[in-house]
Amino acid sequence: MGKLLYFIFSAVILVLLIIFTFEVSNSHEIDPLGNISNNISNNTTKKPIIFIHDVSPKYFNELKDIEKIINKHNYQDRTYLFIIVNHANKYNLKKYPKFVKYLHHLENEGYHIEYHGYNHIGEEFNCNKTVAEEKLNNSFKILNDCEFNTKKIKYFIPPRYKISKDAEEIFLNKNITIIMDYYILKKENNSIKKIIITNKEYTWYLPENLVKPAEILAEIDYKSSQHQFCLSIHPKAVNYGGGLEFLDYFLNITNK
Ligand SMILES: [Zn+2]
Repeated sequence: MGKLLYFIFSAVILVLLIIFTFEVSNSHEIDPLGNISNNISNNTTKKPIIFIHDVSPKYFNELKDIEKIINKHNYQDRTYLFIIVNHANKYNLKKYPKFVKYLHHLENEGYHIEYHGYNHIGEEFNCNKTVAEEKLNNSFKILNDCEFNTKKIKYFIPPRYKISKDAEEIFLNKNITIIMDYYILKKENNSIKKIIITNKEYTWYLPENLVKPAEILAEIDYKSSQHQFCLSIHPKAVNYGGGLEFLDYFLNITNK
């Protein structure tokens, strides 16, 4: 009888453990960008979403410093990393296994792996259909080779926010949402939906003496925003001067 009780007890523990593990692994699938809408009251109550542009091996050290601040305020699930797979035709991800491992580590922490470009030279997606398709396929092949699940990539920021109608179609047909400077485009039930966002960047080489004004401005923008507030940052630019100090302040005040 004692053995039977022990068996039942163990089975219950095991089932609970499985449920718990499932919940935890599922919590990484949180996609705050996925459920925004044009309904104003829905958006103003939401905390900011962070877009990190130009994620490339070129900025490995800078990204580690940014990560510390984002983790400090628990913004991992609300941060989207926009990857360049072959930055300047020089930083091919496949040649940087340590950086790829680091990106997988960030993904495990809750960060979202998304797509920004092939080489980020000029307006690379202001192009025709064939070129866009080729660039995207080559990029996803590199990402697959680096063991990223490209089926999970849902968002794309075109370099310099420039994209042709042809390229737009390629992305939307693959159910990838396009993020622009003040709106996002997504395909929903076979129609294209445009959702307005507030997308701001305050840390483009922000000098130390302008940190306070930037903080005041950002706080006003955030509180008065009628749309989902998104904070864009670029590695290296945000690491300069007072950029990280600003980021620390802003994530602190919005984390309430
Ligand atoms: Zn960029």
